[in-house]
Amino acid sequence: MKINGHYLELQDSYLFSTIAKKVAAFGESHPEAEIIRMGIGDVTLPLCPAVVEAMQSAVAEMGQKESFRGYGPEQGYDFLREAIAAYYAGNGVSLELEEVFVSDGAKSDVGNILDIFAQDNQVLIPNPVYPVYLDTNIMAGRNVRYLQADASNGFLPMPDETVDADIIYLCSPNNPTGAVYNRQQLKTWVDYANQKKAVILFDAAYEAFIQDSSLPRSIYEIEGAKTCAIEFCSLSKTAGFTGTRCGYTIVPLALECGGTKLNRLWLRRQTTKFNGVPYIVQRGAAAVFSSEGQRQTKEAIAYYQKNAAVMAQTLQKMGVWFTGGTNSPYIWMKCPAGYSSWEYFDKLLEQAHVVGTPGVGFGENGEGFFRLTAFGDAEKTKEAMRRMEALG
Ligand code: PLP
Repeated sequence: MKINGHYLELQDSYLFSTIAKKVAAFGESHPEAEIIRMGIGDVTLPLCPAVVEAMQSAVAEMGQKESFRGYGPEQGYDFLREAIAAYYAGNGVSLELEEVFVSDGAKSDVGNILDIFAQDNQVLIPNPVYPVYLDTNIMAGRNVRYLQADASNGFLPMPDETVDADIIYLCSPNNPTGAVYNRQQLKTWVDYANQKKAVILFDAAYEAFIQDSSLPRSIYEIEGAKTCAIEFCSLSKTAGFTGTRCGYTIVPLALECGGTKLNRLWLRRQTTKFNGVPYIVQRGAAAVFSSEGQRQTKEAIAYYQKNAAVMAQTLQKMGVWFTGGTNSPYIWMKCPAGYSSWEYFDKLLEQAHVVGTPGVGFGENGEGFFRLTAFGDAEKTKEAMRRMEALG
């Protein structure tokens, strides 16, 4: 027996466990402190009534012999794929049903998609970014090159024509920086990918937070994207599905490599290794796209966006440099007074009793930066901002 030795090349993921340990230790030694958590990227508002009702009736259907369902189609029920395609049509993107694959979330698909690519691909990954892109490539033993994201490019790296690439990860709105590519920037990426015959793996998990209608919510709003991009999306942050689990991936039929459609490879992969999302969850997911579901989920997003606005206003008042906060649930701030990410974490915890995420945990370029999330309670968010401002 031999193990996949590439797992030993992974860096231990200390970030959230170190945060939890530090917060627990501080809480024990300061039991009177009211700690406000703005670190973890999980939602706090419940599923909306339209989703709950749809799932309750699906449970009732499953309890009756006449309407019970066993295995469903691996790539999702048509009622949900149709709802997703209609949602894209609302943004001016037309999709064939077979281009839509329903899954248990974007994390699985982002990791699993690597099954359909050869080992010796050159991979470009932004730094800093959602750590799953890097770790899944290290597990597969692939060659990774970083796209340097920093304050000088607003944490939105652009292609370098002199660098070759086969697989390119883009995340917009970005986790952790909250930065969003505009149309022109995405067009530059799409042209680069088509020219290099590369594929863009576009993570749109936070598209629902885009308020500015001039910004693209899907890469397919950009001409030429269907021949070079796969898009991942999720209901986790859109509709509070972090614990319910449902997402979707778009693999256009026009996306080919040497005459082979990537759509066919992904279908083969999913039908072989995945048995579909529970019927009950898919009914809940379809309700997100109903007119009532859209109205209710937008209310929850507006609640988080208000938090983000409060945070952004505070940082502006403090004269702190930051990205995100308007079209994203994340705020990515420069640590004041030249503090390192962890130094600022400690200061904020000890002196303001506020918890955030050290930017360096998302990649080397995150050093000296800090991520705050808008997913918390509105009153607590305001209180946390008052404390941060007082701290200076
Ligand atoms: N993509 C990004 C950029 C994320 O930040 C996250 C979750 O934090 C995911 C994907 C995972 O989404 P899901 O819950 O659908 O697996």
